[in-house]
Amino acid sequence: MDPTSELLSELRTELRGTTQLDEIRSLLAWDQQTMLATRGHQRRAEQLALLSAIHHERFASKKVGDLLSELSQRSELDEMQQTGIQLLLKDWRRAACVPAELVERLARLQGQGHMAWMEARAARDFRVFAPVLQQLVDATIERAHALEPGAPVYDVLVDDFEPGMSTERLTDLFRRLRAGLLPLLDAISGATPMPRLEGTFPRDQQMSWCLELASAMGFATDSGRVDLATHPFTTRLGPTDIRITTYLNERNPMHALGATLHETGHALYEQGLPSHLEGTGVEQFASMGLHESQSRFWENTIGRSAPFFRWLAPRFAQHFGAVAPDANTWYRAANRVERGTNRVLADEVTYNLHVIVRFELERALFAGEIQVPDLRDAWAEAYRRDLTAPQDDVEGVLQDIHWSGAAFGYFPTYTLGNLYSAALGRKMQQELPVWELVERGEFAPILGWLRERVHQHGRRWPSEELVRRVTGESDVVEDLVSYLWARHGALHGVTRA
Ligand SMILES: [Zn+2]
Repeated sequence: MDPTSELLSELRTELRGTTQLDEIRSLLAWDQQTMLATRGHQRRAEQLALLSAIHHERFASKKVGDLLSELSQRSELDEMQQTGIQLLLKDWRRAACVPAELVERLARLQGQGHMAWMEARAARDFRVFAPVLQQLVDATIERAHALEPGAPVYDVLVDDFEPGMSTERLTDLFRRLRAGLLPLLDAISGATPMPRLEGTFPRDQQMSWCLELASAMGFATDSGRVDLATHPFTTRLGPTDIRITTYLNERNPMHALGATLHETGHALYEQGLPSHLEGTGVEQFASMGLHESQSRFWENTIGRSAPFFRWLAPRFAQHFGAVAPDANTWYRAANRVERGTNRVLADEVTYNLHVIVRFELERALFAGEIQVPDLRDAWAEAYRRDLTAPQDDVEGVLQDIHWSGAAFGYFPTYTLGNLYSAALGRKMQQELPVWELVERGEFAPILGWLRERVHQHGRRWPSEELVRRVTGESDVVEDLVSYLWARHGALHGVTRA
């Protein structure tokens, strides 16, 4: 073997070990959220902390760093290999440049943050959470300075989840999106509201229906599982072990439908990543935003469309009989639009306004324009402006778990997912008879298109670039706004000015 191939193979061996440690960690975390008995949590937290420490020690080691910097000098690597080495070098720096003391402190604070957030929710009082949140913010700023001295803090945080994205770009995208959404929302608010689904739908039957749904979409059931969790998620325990969880509500099957489509979308992306490139650094998903584009495409673009419900309604009726809604009732209920206080339960039109509020607050917080104690009022003010004012802190600033775990800079990826999804959806409709396929339940060509255009490239390009390569020079904001007008304008009988 020539010296470069030897270095590559040594690197691959090292990375295989750290990837597998990560997969073991994911198994423990999956079990924690689906199976674990109440009294098992304390010990499980210790086990997870131990694995994280071992993973960090191995991945952030001098050995891996030396291999990567040696390889980054080799000119005989092809373009894909070079890209992979640069990506891994960045991962390595992100892991190795933060002092161990700070890593530990942040992990401890995340544990405390979660507890304080729960206590604050029980007391319905943000002031119970604020002191720990302040410490989380301070430690996060310290970490950003350690990673990229001199860079704007929020840019560094966003880059954790969406490589290549900047605060400035987000500000521009979100400002234009908000300006596009508010007139649609105002128009809908004056129209007759869509109904809700009502009835009783036994949980066992819902579960077997969810399994049928996931496999109809193309989820490989020999390479994964579907289980239940209070807060649905998808996790990767290996290239051929991708696990979905879903959530059932006996009174409303819309919850199970949304969760199953969403998580299956994530899982299909994971199952489509280029596992033959394992160890090159390119085989991973591109960003959280691109991941969300895949889940939201199935959940919303496909899963809230009229043709989808024409396919779904008779299949649902096979499980539930007379209580099953007809296709039109499904369609109308799935597209009920409301200015609410809750992001997770929000419809497609208002969802991004919820995200924009969080982005504005985070941006201002890390720019020093507002302070932690101001968050409660700033939240309520922004909601009063665009959505509806919260009744209390649980409906308001204590709503999401993210800040308690120091996941600052994460929220924008939800809306980026919707923007990417809209652009990809527009392009797909130019190339495939999407709605005829959906109405017949032929999802394979749709999945095949996503596999070829998106999944198989891993993280070879930053997400925005990948989407541009697929869709051409397009305005993702206009793609999303016109998609929403087309569906909701027609449904609510309103037209765009
Ligand atoms: Zn998701």
